[in-house]
Amino acid sequence: MPEGDTVWLTARRLHEALAGRVLTRSDVRVPRYATTNLAGRAVTEAAARGKHLLIRVDGGVTVHTHLRMDGSWRIRPARDRVANSHRIRLVLANDTWQAVGYQLGIVEVLPTAREARAVGHLGPDLLGPDWDPAEAARRLRAAPARAIGEALLDQRNLAGAGSIFATEMLFLRGVSPWRPVGEVSDLRALVELGQRLLDANKERAGIITTGVARRGEETWVYGRAGRPCRRCGTPIRRAEQGTAGEERLRFWCPACQR
Ligand SMILES: [Zn+2]
Repeated sequence: MPEGDTVWLTARRLHEALAGRVLTRSDVRVPRYATTNLAGRAVTEAAARGKHLLIRVDGGVTVHTHLRMDGSWRIRPARDRVANSHRIRLVLANDTWQAVGYQLGIVEVLPTAREARAVGHLGPDLLGPDWDPAEAARRLRAAPARAIGEALLDQRNLAGAGSIFATEMLFLRGVSPWRPVGEVSDLRALVELGQRLLDANKERAGIITTGVARRGEETWVYGRAGRPCRRCGTPIRRAEQGTAGEERLRFWCPACQR
């Protein structure tokens, strides 16, 4: 599942291709918006908000999308022929570029003035200009009995971290994903570390938290169940965590993380 760093980079690429240019074609392949036509309007901005993408168009219209599990965007020269596919959910094109959104989990067109309906619930954005670690820590602390591994993924607490970043943040701080939030001594340091990890990864594809780009060495614990901890050699453990239906895989070192 794409995390905040991927969404940030996607937003920047969409911004470069679309912002300041007039749309010559729009094709929203979602029944509710089948008649929506944005041609003739200029795109003013493409921005990430946590894992959500907002494309703002002249006239107070926002196209809100979310990649969810399998979504992706491809940007091609306008003259290229793009193979038709049932996986395409959205096409936005100008004279120079066409941006094609595949398998997007959310596609909606809404008044820019009402963006809060779509993203207003989100906590401080790890890669946003208004990132606020104190506020993120405050929101986490509000539910002290909740397991920290679960709380970090709740986008209402902080926006942008998914399973990989949350898992790696906890390893680097020596905190078990099962520890209750109220027993994590320095929540602010934890979320600040998360911000640095996302920021360091936002310009590239893939996630590296160890500083080593070699295949199989990119992470400390994520995806390494049964293999020795890079610090102490103890086998890394794996389990599911979260409420029924929303479980996510957790990886941790039982010796380094308490
Ligand atoms: Zn260890």
